[in-house]
Amino acid sequence: AVTVVGSANLDQIVRVVRLPAPGETVTTTGLREGPGGKGLNQAVAAARSGAAVTFVGAVGRDSGADLLLGHLRDNAVSTRHVARVDGPTGSAIVMVDDEGENAILVTSGANGQVPPLPDGTDEWLACDVVLLQLELPSRTVLQCAVAARSRGVRVLLNAAPAAPLPDGLLEATDLLVVNETECRTLAGVESLESAAHELARRVPVVVVTLGARGAMWFEDGRLRGELPPPAVSPVDTTGAGDAFCGALAARLAAGDTVEEAVRFALVAGALSTQGHGADTAPTLASVRSVLGVT
Ligand code: ADP
Repeated sequence: AVTVVGSANLDQIVRVVRLPAPGETVTTTGLREGPGGKGLNQAVAAARSGAAVTFVGAVGRDSGADLLLGHLRDNAVSTRHVARVDGPTGSAIVMVDDEGENAILVTSGANGQVPPLPDGTDEWLACDVVLLQLELPSRTVLQCAVAARSRGVRVLLNAAPAAPLPDGLLEATDLLVVNETECRTLAGVESLESAAHELARRVPVVVVTLGARGAMWFEDGRLRGELPPPAVSPVDTTGAGDAFCGALAARLAAGDTVEEAVRFALVAGALSTQGHGADTAPTLASVRSVLGVT
């Protein structure tokens, strides 16, 4: 089983001919509303990859909250440990222009109110893997990682979006997933290779996702492999990292080795680029058919 402690947002994706300048009013060419937030996206991705998933987080008491909880439940994710708090549900306004350039406004809302040890119980720690990102208060991320580690639960940290980490978080992490930008930012080193080696000295397993080039991974400080994703023509790469992380967590919880889980997650990430928006993580069956297993 996988527990995801993370953010849930209501995304409003607006299409514009070009992004507005300060003081300017721009008429959009379309508006789509849907579930988002790295935590929610990764929980759904893990469930579609076959894991029993519990989501831990917070939403408001508004209609956006109902939509997010409904989406989680429709995807068989347990919402028993989602708190309902005063204040708005987290949200993001994503502006995308004709060139594919974007600008994003995030309101943390309820996500900013997830306490250091959510729920007051440790029921959410009855799992094989805890998956964390950086869209909750940093003290919450740290405390959850430390609590999981002390219970012998494997801690997966997706250090996204790129941000400084609280002291002690890397030390409580068993497996770190970063993209190229996050890898460089976290290590504070310009060369990707040096940055990755630096992180691999500090965390037992490090996976660096490389977009269309796939991923490389390190175990015990050494580079163990680099693999490409299956060849696809991407339509929209939003949420590819989330699909990758959710799938990776699901496969590790199922007992896969790191290499097996990375191979699976590469396919999940690539397939997620075949649809628009963030809610594009593929099912176990579709990943298996690409992998040629049944
Ligand atoms: P993020 O979305 O966090 O920036 P990446 O861009 O590294 O992360 O993508 C994560 C994973 O998604 C990759 O490892 C790969 O499996 C898949 N992916 C992303 N972009 C592409 C692409 N253009 N073609 C095929 N797979 C892709």
